[in-house]
Formats: sequence, structure tokens, C-alpha cells
Amino acid sequence: MGAIALRLSGAAKRYARDGRDGTVFEHVDIEVERGEVVVLLGPSGCGKSTLLRTIAGLEPLSAGRVELGEAGAAGRDRGRAIGIGFQDPLLLPWLTVAQNVKLGLRYRANRGAVPNARDAVDEILADFGLTAVAGAYPDQLSGGQAQRASLARTVVTRPSLLLLDEPFAALDPRTRAALQDWLLGVVRERRLTVLLVTHDVEEALYLGDRVALMGSRPSTIIRTWDTAHASGPTGGANGAARQRDDDRLRAVRREILVHYQTDVPASTAPSWVI
Ligand code: ADP
Ligand code: MG
Repeated sequence: MGAIALRLSGAAKRYARDGRDGTVFEHVDIEVERGEVVVLLGPSGCGKSTLLRTIAGLEPLSAGRVELGEAGAAGRDRGRAIGIGFQDPLLLPWLTVAQNVKLGLRYRANRGAVPNARDAVDEILADFGLTAVAGAYPDQLSGGQAQRASLARTVVTRPSLLLLDEPFAALDPRTRAALQDWLLGVVRERRLTVLLVTHDVEEALYLGDRVALMGSRPSTIIRTWDTAHASGPTGGANGAARQRDDDRLRAVRREILVHYQTDVPASTAPSWVI
């Protein structure tokens, strides 16, 4: 067993709602090992984004705890140890791609994260296939380029844990598939540790070394699967590309689809579920 990058134990989040039970999730236990891609899969509204926000320290948990293995050991604070990516690239429209990426290193928590900011920006732009658009503005980019620029801005700070919230959900299917392959390459090359959230079963199966299914209300982790891609885990020695129709995934896909809830049962849905 490898070093633990993230451990979430007994995590719960509640919002006070006029005396009604406003529990979003509870009893959530997740462990992410260093170098692993864990996918948190679940239907819309089950609390995935809320869970990521609590891990990032943007909101407190109502119960339970978040431990960051490597971050604690290195004495880095949470803001610096964690990088976040969202569905919306959130690039600043008045800055070029290179300036947007450089901005990632300007936040106070990230100052000094890399020895030479300009080299780090140039290197990541080249790595992410963005050198040709380094001087372009966000409205001149394709959706895929904008999302890669956004992820460059996060990854350039060398986070110990990357939290990705439906990063490809707004892209057309071809761009989405291309960026999924691209992400697996970046994860392998930079040895990233990722917790990625999606509602898409195929995306979860393709990207995850492990898939944790979230559902029911209040939500919790229903079950976790090892995907056991024939090509081995991300970063595995054999380096072969993953197959979307990998035979080994068939049984896992079937089980996930049995447990995947597309709807919250009406009888148990609090009135504040939209
Ligand atoms: P997902 O990302 O899985 O779609 P979210 O984390 O966005 O789910 O939301 C989960 C649930 O938590 C939603 O039903 C939402 O209404 C509720 N929720 C999120 N934030 C708040 C808040 N600040 N106050 C009350 N309820 C909230
Ligand atoms: Mg969400």
C-alpha cells in the first residue's frame, strides 16, 4: 500500500434548514493513495461538489475529518497542497493564456512553489500543447484549449492533490474523449494524485484506478470498485494505452449501473432538493 495523499473519515455536511434535516452527505470515508486517480461518481445533486469544497477547506465539515498525508508531512498548508479544477475554465478574459497560467503562481499560498516562475510557465505551456496560443486571450481559444490552460494554471503550482469537479462536462464528446486521454498522460508524466468528480459512468471507468459511487440521500459512498485496467494502473510499468471497452471493465460497469441512482426517491427527498 502506497503513501496516503488524502484520508476522509466519517465526513458529513449539513445545512440548517428551517428545522428540517438538511444533510447533504454523511459517513463518507475515502482514501486516495499517492499517484492514484480516484473517481467520485454520482448523480447530479448528490453532493459531489460540496464534498470537494470541504476537502479543499473552502467550507467546514459538519462532522468527520480530512487528513492530507503528504501536505502535513511537508508542512504545506492546505491551500497550497491542493489544486482545484472546475467545469468552467474560469480564465480571466483580460489576460493572455501565459498570464493566466502565471497567475496560479502569484496567489500568496503559491509564492515560491517553483524556483523559476517563467521557466515553469513556459514548460507547462509546452507540455500542455499551449505554446502556440500563449499570447492568445481566452475568447480566442477552443473549449479544449481553455480547459487545458485552466488546468495548467492549477498544475503549475505542483499541488500534492488535484481535485477536479466535472472538468470535461461542458465539452463536446470528441474533445472530451481527447482531453480524457490527455489527462491520463499528464497524470502519468507528472505523477499527479487526483480525486475527480463526474456523473458519467464511462468517464469514471476510463479515468479511475478506483471508482467510488455516491448516492442515496443523505448521500454516502455506496461502494468502491477497482477498475483493474488491462494496461495496469496509471503510471504502471507497461505503459500501454487504456481501452475504453476493456473486457475487465464489463463486470464493474454492470455492477455500477445496478447501483447508480439517477433519481432521488420522492418519498425521501427533502423539499429543498431541486
Ligand atoms: P453535485 O455536485 O453532486 O451535483 P452539490 O454538491 O452541488 O451536488 O449539491 C448537493 C446538495 O446540497 C444540493 O441538493 C444542494 O441544494 C445542497 N446544497 C449545496 N450547498 C448548499 C447550501 N449552501 N445550503 C443548502 N443546501 C446546499
Ligand atoms: Mg457539482
